Amino acid sequence: ATPLALIRGGGEAAKRGILMRSGDAFQVFQDVDHIVLDKTGTITEGEPTVDTVVGIDCEAIDASRSSSDGSSDGDHAEIDVLRTAASAEAFSEHPLAEAILDYADAHDVDFSDPEEFDSVTGKGVTATIDGENVLVGKPGWLETEGIDLSVADEAIDRLQRKGLTTIGVIVENDLLGLVGIGDETKTDATETVGRMKEKGVTPILITGDNEQTAHAVADEVGIERVMAGVLPNDKREEVETIQDQGHRVAMVGDGINDAPALTQADIGIAIGAGTDIAIESADIVLMGDRLGGVMDAYEIGETSYTKTK
Ligand code: ADP
Ligand code: MG
Repeated sequence: ATPLALIRGGGEAAKRGILMRSGDAFQVFQDVDHIVLDKTGTITEGEPTVDTVVGIDCEAIDASRSSSDGSSDGDHAEIDVLRTAASAEAFSEHPLAEAILDYADAHDVDFSDPEEFDSVTGKGVTATIDGENVLVGKPGWLETEGIDLSVADEAIDRLQRKGLTTIGVIVENDLLGLVGIGDETKTDATETVGRMKEKGVTPILITGDNEQTAHAVADEVGIERVMAGVLPNDKREEVETIQDQGHRVAMVGDGINDAPALTQADIGIAIGAGTDIAIESADIVLMGDRLGGVMDAYEIGETSYTKTK
């Protein structure tokens, strides 16, 4: 390929909101046979919204919390779940926290700031609220913290099968309830996954979310391979493992947490303007939110190179 072809391809790309860090990126992208896609903000819109709140009937709902005005315990339990979750997440910057706070506000649930707060990356948050220890986060993490979630096995299963990110709310080691958070898949996700397969490229969904939710989302867009429960720092290693199996890998992500994986990949693609760190770590930057930009870039490269060969 000649530099002229690269410039021509680059111009076409720029018109479609695709920025390339280097001319090489087009060429290397042609050799890619696996594309690893982050779930949140890449395959999904990245605008998580609370779908379901479940109050669990257990000791965590004590006398002071249950109904005294004749309304059902169920409603009270759900408001309590929401209030506790919103307090615990009040200082969190995670998009899931934002979803919980928005939902609490929309339902006029008043909640206080926590006395203490800590975020546990890729897992959830810990907080002290009214002197009580509160954990809000993914079931797998809660279980490693010694919490018994067996009363809610079926409810968790039901939410996760719907593709909802399922968060447990724990007060003093008891399960108060669950919050199921949905995030719509992008309108062009299924079509783009189809375009990848047409080129003989294998799409893989990667996420810190649990296996079942991840598979529900993957199924929806036609992705068969899923890497779930991957902690932010381990995404890079997962990319490396695929490379070690002799593959060329592109990684598509939007977040700060994705930066090491973007750098590790043969081609790192930052989507939807993303964060500054993601952009700095990427070879290709997609300006819009469309997932299709990934395959537009691939195809522009293909055209530029076949033209000059
Ligand atoms: P992703 O891989 O989708 O970008 P993260 O790695 O940020 O997600 O988080 C992985 C999982 O950890 C989330 O799906 C959620 O279950 C849980 N989690 C992370 N942060 C929080 C939080 N602030 N509140 C509740 N759960 C959280
Ligand atoms: Mg993320």
